[in-house]
Amino acid sequence: MGQESEKGNGFPRVVIAGAGPAGLTAATELVRLRGGDGRGITLLEADPQRVGGISKTVCHHGFRFDIGGHRFFSKNPEITRWWEERLPEDFLTVKRQSRILYRGRFFDYPLKPWNALSNLGLTESGLCVLSYSRRKLFPLRPEVSFRDWVTNRFGDRLYQHFFKTYTEKVWGISCEELSADWAAQRIKGLSLYHAVWNAFFKPSGGKVVKTLIDRFRYPRLGPGMMWEKTRDDLTAAGVEIRMGREVKRIHCRGNRAAAAETLGPEGKRETWPAEEFILSMPLRETVLALGESAPEPLRRAGAALRYRDFLTVALILRGPKTAEGLFPDNWIYIHDPQVKAGRIQNFYRWSPEMVPQTEPDAAMNCLGMEYFCGEGDTLWRQSDESLKELARAELERLELLPKGTECVDGCVIRMPKAYPVYAGDYRRDLGIIRGEILKYENIQQCGRNGLHQYNNQDHSMLTGMLAARNIQNGGSRENVWHVNEDAQYLE
Ligand SMILES: Cc1cc2nc3c(=O)[nH]c(=O)nc-3n(C[C@H](O)[C@H](O)[C@H](O)COP(=O)(O)OP(=O)(O)OC[C@H]3O[C@@H](n4cnc5c(N)ncnc54)[C@H](O)[C@@H]3O)c2cc1C
Repeated sequence: MGQESEKGNGFPRVVIAGAGPAGLTAATELVRLRGGDGRGITLLEADPQRVGGISKTVCHHGFRFDIGGHRFFSKNPEITRWWEERLPEDFLTVKRQSRILYRGRFFDYPLKPWNALSNLGLTESGLCVLSYSRRKLFPLRPEVSFRDWVTNRFGDRLYQHFFKTYTEKVWGISCEELSADWAAQRIKGLSLYHAVWNAFFKPSGGKVVKTLIDRFRYPRLGPGMMWEKTRDDLTAAGVEIRMGREVKRIHCRGNRAAAAETLGPEGKRETWPAEEFILSMPLRETVLALGESAPEPLRRAGAALRYRDFLTVALILRGPKTAEGLFPDNWIYIHDPQVKAGRIQNFYRWSPEMVPQTEPDAAMNCLGMEYFCGEGDTLWRQSDESLKELARAELERLELLPKGTECVDGCVIRMPKAYPVYAGDYRRDLGIIRGEILKYENIQQCGRNGLHQYNNQDHSMLTGMLAARNIQNGGSRENVWHVNEDAQYLE
């Protein structure tokens, strides 16, 4: 039996799985609704050390880096206020600069017509316009795959240049296999027309295409700063946070969960009884944890969900001091199919405080070479040393480093289940899972993988908030599943 915190405050005991943005926000909202009293709330986190999930910040020998690079941007004023209240003094406003490196040339991203035109050349640009016009006249029908969706809006040639290679690197499957839903969510509101309009006429008020936002906020020590602060506040309010506890089983009596069972340090199993359960762990894991008692269609649909994994090789570099640093971008997309890295993060450009200047006569930098992969594939299993070597060699090949820059240290972070995959029959499977999970009276899923929804921090947080309110207020619990159904801001 897990150590039980004092109940004593008359509120139902709640177990929350996962201390990422969704789980931490759910706990915070419960504490708020209980007048600041966190007793009877237990947060179980699989990671032995760090909170924040995919939004954590890792610190290696004083150099900080994220899993991806996390922009803080939300259209929801409640979320923006929530962030500001927690870190009133620590937010930077960062001007976004990102480019696509393709065939040895830099293309501004979001695309700028003159830059794209001069890089592609007049002939190729003309061909792009022709292929765009052709697709406007003869669109692909039905629009099923990612390729169909993009070519219908951008034309075949722009699809080939700017979407195909990178998207296939990210997902590891062909764009014909990838669902059009993902494009609709990932780049909704963005068509060639909008991209060009946006480049010439900055939108003032009105509709913001979120994927094109040119300024964002960022905590000076990375997103982990937000989540560590939240953890500390929760602990102070009496919430019990147990690290290194992976929820493996949910014990049920009929259609009610009775306890979560965790696997902890040294293989120790503990059970955590509660009246309510908020689970931000991946949906596939929840279904597995329900075990044999779960209905067969639920188990089958859960097992079919797929994820894409991600690893970052952070390279610490020492080089000559230059006015601009290594390069001006926050990140660069690598479309070159010969290079395995998909994106490069330049953490100094997110916040200078992420990169301590430890040597008076040299400039220190930290780049995150990002590789999209599958848990268990060759890249994932490669040793840290050979991954660091690969990342260093690819950086050299891309000619991104000023002369005299050397790699002095490095660190590899593997992030399983970074992306829920939208492919095959996932939509049907998700419908089955949602229907079955809703039958459990006291289990609520939330978050990104928890709902198998491509959520950013803000929407992941909203789902946690709603789950907490549902416990306190009663009523239908289906609302959690509808957050972010019209998402636009996604990287
Ligand atoms: C490359 C990349 C870039 C991104 N960029 C941005 C961005 O710029 N801006 C933005 O807002 N969002 C961004 N996101 C999205 C953001 O990371 C997620 O929305 C957010 O972290 C999801 O929060 P969550 O709590 O739902 O899940 P997670 O962050 O995945 O946290 C889940 C937590 O649950 C724990 N857990 C898992 N299984 C169990 C278990 N069985 N028992 C107990 N604990 C468990 C995990 O260890 C983890 O700590 C990005 C994501 C990626 C992959």
